[in-house]
Amino acid sequence: MTTYRTVSINTASPSPAQAKIMIVYTGGTFGMVRNKEGSLIPFDFASILEHLPTLKNLFLDLTVVSFDDPIDSSNIQPTHWQTIGQIISDHYQQHDGFVVLHGTDTMSFTASALSFMLQGLAKPVIFTGAQLPISEPRSDARENLITSLEIAAAKKDGQPLVPEVCVFFDYELLRGNRSKKVESRHFDAFESSNYPVLAKAGVAIDYNYNAIHVPRAGRVFKLRSGFNNQVAVLKFFPGISEATVSAVVATPGLQALVIETFGSGNAPALGWLKKLLAKAIDQGLLVLNITQCGGGRVEQGKYETSQWLKEIGVISGADMTLEAAVTKLMILLSEQGLEKTKQLIGKPLAGELTV
Ligand code: ASP
Repeated sequence: MTTYRTVSINTASPSPAQAKIMIVYTGGTFGMVRNKEGSLIPFDFASILEHLPTLKNLFLDLTVVSFDDPIDSSNIQPTHWQTIGQIISDHYQQHDGFVVLHGTDTMSFTASALSFMLQGLAKPVIFTGAQLPISEPRSDARENLITSLEIAAAKKDGQPLVPEVCVFFDYELLRGNRSKKVESRHFDAFESSNYPVLAKAGVAIDYNYNAIHVPRAGRVFKLRSGFNNQVAVLKFFPGISEATVSAVVATPGLQALVIETFGSGNAPALGWLKKLLAKAIDQGLLVLNITQCGGGRVEQGKYETSQWLKEIGVISGADMTLEAAVTKLMILLSEQGLEKTKQLIGKPLAGELTV
């Protein structure tokens, strides 16, 4: 388990707090400062007020949990997801909302994983980060954090306004398991091509009420925390070799293979490919079809080049992102086993796909 500590931030506001929010600081570019040599290193979150004095003016009661060793999110592992899930679960009742500070590289994987882990979630869990460290004058970190806190604290008729796992970045609030990192240089790093933006922050924050999840009454909050990583991803390209596909399919212990296909779920109709995949499916492998396109959906049978996938038993991933597909597979395989996962993977679990 990743170790972490709790840092108390005295916002020093004389007025009563409007909401009690927990910030979970995991690392990423957001919290980097330059050392004497000019290299970027993670900063001690206890010094956040030096970088963000505005925090003092928010009418929020803040608790900050900081990873002892903040990480570049490219190092994230399911054990980190378990830690984040456990922190939220342990503090769920006492807080109105959560903001998770996370590197952008794998933020969509973590947000997707958490959306499946936090069953019956009825409070906001907002992921955010930055493209430029908070120590840089032009950093996007300040705006991203302040607005995320505001969204995590927002209520309507006494109820949390956005009771789901989201990514807030560059003035847009996206459903976490629909988000995708699409840009490494500009500030608009995330997109949600297959689901509307949940809110846009300008002079005011405009919420898209019709698109925001409404929690089912009486559903009890519960943490799912098992992961089975016997999963592989195979991206197709013109010219992919038989040796490559057979090596992936023969991975010892492999239970699920995500094939990243062209367009609406199409793949080269090659004899050897059909034979290899059909044999693997007959032997029990779950094969899931996800499109390489950023937007749109898999429609097996629309073209002849996807009809054959349907015929051999490949499961359609509809409009799921790769991030949602991989994390959902890991959780379902661990919790439900292979046969049940085959039945459940194509059905929505947390708003990640449209049937
Ligand atoms: N490599 C960094 C990370 O994902 C990039 C970022 O935070 O934007 O942790």
